[in-house]
Amino acid sequence: MEIVEGIHQVEGIIGNVFIVGDQDGLTIVDTGMPRNAEKILDYIRKMNHKPSDVSTIVLTHCHVDHVGSAHDLKELTKAKVAVHEMDADFVAGKKVLPVHKGVAGLAVRAFSGLMKPKPVQPDTALKENDRVGELVVVHTPGHTPGSISLLFPAKRALFVGDAIRVEDDKIAGPSEQYSFNIKLAMESVEKIAQLDFDVLLSGHGSPLRPDASSRVREFLVSVEQKRKYDEIT
Ligand SMILES: [Zn+2]
Ligand SMILES: [Zn+2]
Repeated sequence: MEIVEGIHQVEGIIGNVFIVGDQDGLTIVDTGMPRNAEKILDYIRKMNHKPSDVSTIVLTHCHVDHVGSAHDLKELTKAKVAVHEMDADFVAGKKVLPVHKGVAGLAVRAFSGLMKPKPVQPDTALKENDRVGELVVVHTPGHTPGSISLLFPAKRALFVGDAIRVEDDKIAGPSEQYSFNIKLAMESVEKIAQLDFDVLLSGHGSPLRPDASSRVREFLVSVEQKRKYDEIT
C-alpha cells in the first residue's frame, strides 16, 4: 500500500515494514519478524524494482519484530544495513539487551528467547542528524538505547519505530513493559513533539494523520494532566 507518494508499507507483517523510493533507489525501514524477506521482495518486484535496487536497510531499533528479516534481506539484496551506534552490538548479536526484571519481564524474556533473530552485521553506525538518503536520523532512546526516528522532510513524515505506539488511530506512547528505560522513552516523545510533521509512521498500528505532530503534543498534555490528577487523588 502506498501511504504517501514514495512511501510504501508492506502489509500483513508483524512489525511494520516501510519502503521509501526515489530515483536513487530504495530504502527499507525495518524488516518485521523473521521469515518475511520473500514477502518484502515480492512487494518490491510489484513496484517494478529489482532486489538489487535496495541500497539501504535501516533499522529503528534492535527488537526482533524490527530486525527479524534483516539478515536474509541483506543477503538477497546486498544492501547496506544501518542502525544507531548504541543498538549496533545488539543487532550484530555481540551483546544481549537486558530486559525487565520481575513479573513484567517474564513474558518479554520468554518471547525474546523463542524469537531470536539471526544476527546481522551493521555496515553503518548512525548518529544524530546523519542522513540515510533523504531521511534524517533523530535519536529517540528509551525503548532501546539506540532507538531512532527518521524524519522525511519532503513528505512531512516521521518514522518512529516503537518510540510511539499507535493503537486504534490513537497515540498510546511507548510500551512500559517492553521499554528499556520508560522515563527516557517519555523524554524522547517530548523530543518528537518538537518536530514538525503531518504523518506519523509507527512500528505497530496504522499511519497517523493528518497533523500528527500536534497530536503528539496533545498526547503529552493529557499525560501531564493525568499525572497531576494522580498526585492529588
Ligand atoms: Zn521494540
Ligand atoms: Zn515492535
